[in-house]
Amino acid sequence: MEYEAVIGLEVHAQLLTESKIFCGCSTSFGAPPNTHVCPVCLGMPGVLPKLNEKVVEFTIRAGLATNCAVQERSVWARKNYFYPDLPKNYQISQYELPICLDGWLDIEVQGETRRIGITRIHMEEDAGKLVHDPGQPVSYVDYNRTGVPLMEIVSEPDMRTPEEAGAYLRTLRDVLVYLEICDGNMEEGSFRCDANVSIRPMGQAELGIRAELKNMNSFRGVVKALEYEIRRQRAILDEGGSVKQETRLWDADQGKTFGMRGKEEAHDYRYLPDPDLLPLVVDTAWVERARQALPELPAAKRERFGEQYGLNDYDAGVLCASRPLAGYYEAVVAAGAGSKAAANWVMSDLLGALKAAELEIIASPVKPDGLAGLIKLIDSGAISNKMAKEVFAEMMASGKAAEAVVAEKGLSQVSDEGELEGILRDIFAANPNEVEAFKGGKKKLMGFFVGQVMKATKGQANPKLVNQLVNQLLGG
Ligand SMILES: [Zn+2]
Repeated sequence: MEYEAVIGLEVHAQLLTESKIFCGCSTSFGAPPNTHVCPVCLGMPGVLPKLNEKVVEFTIRAGLATNCAVQERSVWARKNYFYPDLPKNYQISQYELPICLDGWLDIEVQGETRRIGITRIHMEEDAGKLVHDPGQPVSYVDYNRTGVPLMEIVSEPDMRTPEEAGAYLRTLRDVLVYLEICDGNMEEGSFRCDANVSIRPMGQAELGIRAELKNMNSFRGVVKALEYEIRRQRAILDEGGSVKQETRLWDADQGKTFGMRGKEEAHDYRYLPDPDLLPLVVDTAWVERARQALPELPAAKRERFGEQYGLNDYDAGVLCASRPLAGYYEAVVAAGAGSKAAANWVMSDLLGALKAAELEIIASPVKPDGLAGLIKLIDSGAISNKMAKEVFAEMMASGKAAEAVVAEKGLSQVSDEGELEGILRDIFAANPNEVEAFKGGKKKLMGFFVGQVMKATKGQANPKLVNQLVNQLLGG
């Protein structure tokens, strides 16, 4: 039997606000346990939540960038459950009336564009973190994360392969990072994904029974977990069994999913409107302001880079990987470097050096005009490509301008025609046999003459110019 997989993804993205969603506590990561807490996020009796406007602003941006309709009125709900990391015994979320509905995102898979529907986006607070001490009969709880703002983005079950799921996640992550509302770090948990997956016989409209997969902490993990789960479900159906609706945990070390618990239904949580928070009203003017302030998004930027700078898809993709990187590249070109040369230098030398030094692009010791200066020295023939590598390494180390490094190291390429001509005439005089042979058609001797000039100038002659002069003087 041929089967088709049906995949939907739920992404939890942590919003990059400085304070929590309903109190003024810091959201910064890595503080000692229970130091970023107050009576509100600890759920003390009598306290009231106060909504952080930035959370709404960021979610509106996400909704607009994913083609959602931003709702004028949305409602806060309590999702009730008991767990030690949730001090109020309920999580404030949005349920029936979320802030964003009915969007979509275009993804590219094997050169083809597919449109994936986005059901909804809502805001909610994060829970705390349980810390288990192996070997000790105790568990600890850290409430620093309690109340950190999250956005949940629920897709339609529009994906058919694990590869499409991976492409959707990357596309969504890139959009959120471009919007500067989430750092997109999956390993650290600021961009988390749960996947719903079922399979059905090819051509059947009715959906199969789905499993929810959790605990994937990389894009690769999501793809692997889905591949495993599709195989597992197919084996069950092929044997005439039926798939159980349940939540399953991905174990990256074993490469398998394990049943955790029966999947809860919404009614298990007894969602109730939160009486402490008024319905949220977002007027059209607010949405329009947010729309005007949207940055150019990754797909549009890649397309523009292709057209404006003549870059191929791969190069445009690398350079548009982040806004700071794309901005850096554009600044190099604006400072006078050719667009192809700038792309090559940024993608290979600069990114390689930054990676080795563990630096972000904004902290690069070589600024865009510095790199443009170096490229212009190569273009003018003042230094060779080989010398440029040496100059660049020194610029990275010292932060000095290309011209200064060239002067200090005496690296300047000899591009003075008169000087090179004099050197060449001496070489010709000393090597009459080679001159005759060259004139007689033995063009391979070009390498010999260039080598002699390099020797005489300690490698600083402009090889292109030497070539030209040899041909000119010996009538080649
Ligand atoms: Zn607090």
